[in-house]
Amino acid sequence: KLVIGVLALQGAFIEHQKALANCGVESIQVRKPEQLEEIKGLIIPGGESTTMGKLMHQFDLFEPILNLAHKGVPIFGTCAGMIMLAKDIVGSNQPRLGLMDIAVERNAFGRQVESFEVDLNVPELGEEPLRAIFIRAPYIKSASSNVQVMATFQDKIVLARQGKFLAAAFHPELTNDLRLHKYFLNMID
Ligand code: GLN
Repeated sequence: KLVIGVLALQGAFIEHQKALANCGVESIQVRKPEQLEEIKGLIIPGGESTTMGKLMHQFDLFEPILNLAHKGVPIFGTCAGMIMLAKDIVGSNQPRLGLMDIAVERNAFGRQVESFEVDLNVPELGEEPLRAIFIRAPYIKSASSNVQVMATFQDKIVLARQGKFLAAAFHPELTNDLRLHKYFLNMID
């Protein structure tokens, strides 16, 4: 049975569950290690990455999520979730999973610009542009050659894939466009 887990320690997990439901896919809120055993994919939502990291330690989820990743289960990180996936976080030693060979810069679009929306060109998703909502968003400052850059905005990488890991700097769960969630679901064997 296809069940997707959404890490539900804090942040925008409900919205991801709604998007998955709109894709016709069942999801569960993950707060306990044993819940990872029944899922075929994991979404790490937006929120606040330092808080999320602390909670992941408190809930003993770091090791189990790394084990899940090493089993080849796809993981999709959005915004703070993207920060959690990164190996390097510029100027920070906050906890992270470090599964993707990317360096991310937090709050990278400037403090005065809290949030904004743009149309992104994402060839992998077809011709129609993808509306992207950025909220105190990070971006990918650098990525190693094994990382596939899927979209940029103002020359900054905002969507990337490395094997079974997908990272978006923006919030795909806050629009009605389901293409990125469907793309992620297609990463599941
Ligand atoms: N700025 C947040 C962080 O650094 C991420 C923002 C978000 O997830 N919307 O964790």
